Amino acid sequence: MLIKERNEPINLKIMTALNTRMSLSKEHQRYYHNLKSGYEGECLFDQYVKEYVPLSCDILNDLQLKIYTTDFQIDALIIHDQTISIYEIKNYQTDITYHHNNFITKSGTIITNPLGQLNRTETALRNWLKLNRLTYEVEAYVCFINPEAMIYGAPYHPNIIYACQLSRHLKNLNPNTSKAEQLMKTLMENHIADFRSGKDLPDYQKETIKKGVACRYCHSFETKIKDRTTYCLTCGQTESTQETMNRQIAEFQVLFPEELLDTAVLHDWCKKQVSKQRLYRQLAKA
Ligand SMILES: [Zn+2]
Repeated sequence: MLIKERNEPINLKIMTALNTRMSLSKEHQRYYHNLKSGYEGECLFDQYVKEYVPLSCDILNDLQLKIYTTDFQIDALIIHDQTISIYEIKNYQTDITYHHNNFITKSGTIITNPLGQLNRTETALRNWLKLNRLTYEVEAYVCFINPEAMIYGAPYHPNIIYACQLSRHLKNLNPNTSKAEQLMKTLMENHIADFRSGKDLPDYQKETIKKGVACRYCHSFETKIKDRTTYCLTCGQTESTQETMNRQIAEFQVLFPEELLDTAVLHDWCKKQVSKQRLYRQLAKA
């Protein structure tokens, strides 16, 4: 049973908005691309889980936890018969070579070994369970989800699951025979929602990023709002004005969570494309 669904990560929402509203450095473009492909990989993993995991197992996605001062994140967690399986999902878009304990991309970049990352998460979870007086076995896996990315010299490792093995692995999880209510309750209560990590984000201020209404499809700012419809003058697509305004509000809030959003601020954010009366009504509803 799906207990906690996956949401688009806040940092990805921020980077998507910034990609439209400012020019990103090469490094930040790479970061944005990695976030995007990571999230796509996780969504693909969820499809496998939906299809193959026995119904009695409990699934919690995208958990953000803390033990003492250390934050740790779990891409997917499945509870099956007094055992917790956690998954670190990797969606590499390029062929990789495994050589001397290192995963190396085509361009020669050494990727941080996902098994090291997995090991840290597993240790943090074991300590977290102990601290919360919960007794469960823990199994931890790295899953290479992209079936199109070749891993040359792929090592056999009991904690690595390749895309072609995933359905079999999930099908073979033991069904739950007892309810893990206390565990699920503690996990949900301790999950840190809307976790944002500022260290990888570019610097941005309200004054320096582009304002205006961007098309939801092609991200062009050449848009026109007329009554109930937003028209894109670049790609020709349309959207209901209601949805456009909701997007504008959500984007502002994700970029500037500390700032008060009132009619005047929103009017300026939309580059005065929508009347103040209408924005006032919209904000009252939000
Ligand atoms: Zn467009």
